[in-house]
Amino acid sequence: MAKKDFYETLGVSKTATDAEIKSAYRKLAKKYHPDLNKEEGAAEKFKEIGEAYEVLSDPNKRKMYDQYGSAAFEQGGPSAGGFGGFGQGFGQGFGGFSGFEEVDLSDMFDEFLGGFGFGSRTRSGEPRAQKGQDLLVRVKLTFEEAVFGISKDITIDIDDACDECHGKGGTGEQTCHTCDGKGRIVSETRTILGVMQSQQTCPDCQGTGKTYKNTCSKCKGKKTIRKEKTLSVEIPSGINNGERLRLSGKGSAGLNGGPNGDLYIEVTVSKHEIFEREGKDIYLVLPLSITEAILGCKKEVPTVHGSVVLDISPGTQSGEKLKLRGKGVPGGSFSKGDMYVITDVVIPKKLDRKQKSLIKDLDDTDMSVSDYKKLEKYL
Ligand SMILES: [Zn+2]
Ligand SMILES: [Zn+2]
Repeated sequence: MAKKDFYETLGVSKTATDAEIKSAYRKLAKKYHPDLNKEEGAAEKFKEIGEAYEVLSDPNKRKMYDQYGSAAFEQGGPSAGGFGGFGQGFGQGFGGFSGFEEVDLSDMFDEFLGGFGFGSRTRSGEPRAQKGQDLLVRVKLTFEEAVFGISKDITIDIDDACDECHGKGGTGEQTCHTCDGKGRIVSETRTILGVMQSQQTCPDCQGTGKTYKNTCSKCKGKKTIRKEKTLSVEIPSGINNGERLRLSGKGSAGLNGGPNGDLYIEVTVSKHEIFEREGKDIYLVLPLSITEAILGCKKEVPTVHGSVVLDISPGTQSGEKLKLRGKGVPGGSFSKGDMYVITDVVIPKKLDRKQKSLIKDLDDTDMSVSDYKKLEKYL
């Protein structure tokens, strides 16, 4: 499937505010709504606009999109979770308006945009499919697990389709008496604009038009059942604190044939005793004695890839940054992180008599700092 640019679809910039996105969406949705625009391709365009808006109007989804692109949201992927309910259940509830060409549409669109659940059946009369709930699970990782990636077994409580009734809620299917199988209850009101119909989802069958002689004893008619499930999750190398993974279709079971919700895994990475991460780079503070810093030395230094021997040159100062190429977070050849060793020359606080006299001898050899001369004129 081709990559989609949701910003381009809505004609807004990548830095657009929520208000700009909403306003752009409204304009386009009005223009391409299939009830108003009979041109070829309008319905397709309307769907695309809706898709783009669904992602960009949700701060979390927008963040994911900015990070991973539209691939993270593709419908019809290996386990399509995508945009549950979108396009189904939308664009209905309109029919009852007679003579709506005369009406200012802006108010109706407000209702439209505000209430996705408006009406409860698609035009074909099928009960509205509902996407299952999205779930969020937090997973703790050690510093090394986040750097190298790991396969983790995650146990979650999840609403899964009831296996006793196959997600129907009962046996002995019959037409709902309350709504005569229509799934909704319609009432008509006469107004100056004509006859207005309002619809309400049937409370007895929740819009399915069907009830069951025998309510399922296992799920008590809820269609889903809470289950403990263990999933094996591949945490990719280089994931960072607070980042989320989306497992499409691994959330709660959908209702009436709707897709499952998605499962989001949010990682918390624990601090390391000596290493620190900044993106793909790893930092380490290397303490040096004054003689090591003055005379230079070879120093063994730990990295997440095993230890290396560093050449510390004579006259090394505190705060120098030594680069170890490719020793950061692994990744493709272009995205490999580096490691930086920051030197920290430690001045001894306690000296014995012999050390003191050696330092004094050193001082007699005029080790004065030439940069101090700059300060002298201010004395
Ligand atoms: Zn009913
Ligand atoms: Zn059941």
